[in-house]
Amino acid sequence: MNLADKIIKLKKEKKAVILAHNYQRQDIQNIADYVGDSIELSRKAMEEKEAEIIAFSAVDFMAESAKILNPDKKVLLPSLGARCPMAQMLTVDEIKKGKVLHPHSPLVLYVNTLASAKAYCDICCTSANAVEVIESLNAETVLFGPDRNLAEYVQKETGKTVIPIPEWGFCPTHLLFQPEDVQILKMQYPDAVVMAHPECSAEMRDVANFVGSTSQMCKYAKQCNAKTFIVATEEGLLHRLGKDNPKKQFILAYEEAVCPNMKLNTLERLYTALKEEKHVVTIPEPIAKKAKKALDRMFELKTSGN
Ligand code: SF4
Repeated sequence: MNLADKIIKLKKEKKAVILAHNYQRQDIQNIADYVGDSIELSRKAMEEKEAEIIAFSAVDFMAESAKILNPDKKVLLPSLGARCPMAQMLTVDEIKKGKVLHPHSPLVLYVNTLASAKAYCDICCTSANAVEVIESLNAETVLFGPDRNLAEYVQKETGKTVIPIPEWGFCPTHLLFQPEDVQILKMQYPDAVVMAHPECSAEMRDVANFVGSTSQMCKYAKQCNAKTFIVATEEGLLHRLGKDNPKKQFILAYEEAVCPNMKLNTLERLYTALKEEKHVVTIPEPIAKKAKKALDRMFELKTSGN
């Protein structure tokens, strides 16, 4: 029996559900019960009433959100080292400093933050609903963390003043995309449509025909009549895009745009974590309670990203 089959067998024995983020390795995506973005997956986990274990193949903050939303389930992260560097960039100290400087502005945090940070915010958002969340607030100035690029994008879309905390937060993988690479690809594929994630730089977003989250890119690629797409997000999404649209071509805008943190999860590590029920995600209850309020407030808005 190969490793993938062993995992599927083990999963049934242990009443586990395997969730894989869009940026996971292809072999993990292929055996997952659900593939999607972090919030899509946490919500799927809530719907899986029979499941006792959630093996969340992704990075730390996503597994934490799954645990916050599913406190009665055991949540496992296949590789303990799978930490998102952008989430680590926003510390509680930075938040406190920002709140002192802007005491009357609400704090909106991207879900790409640790639970300890979420506990301090008024509401969470995803890259899919950040614009709607900020528009919903009765405030013209908003504190936003940790991604400076997403903050800039939302400021442009909403016309509100969006103050990034920290001032310099970024996703190292999405900053790899450069407009000059797209210009060269466009010479080869003149009819290609360019899709970029809002975590990309402003220069990169400017050359895109469509800017959106991974789930929004999946929807857009299905609806759009174009046959070829240049994609500026982590390479793992191309597997899902290709599977969903077998007659369309997807080209990564920069071939080395790989998130090494996401790729720390392997079939071997997933198997071991599930077999030994190790790398269990735990969050102190007071933090989990406060972070849940911020997530629930986002879900209550019923935005297009929910
Ligand atoms: S792609 Fe960027 S935001 Fe996502 S986990 Fe990797 S470093 Fe973090």
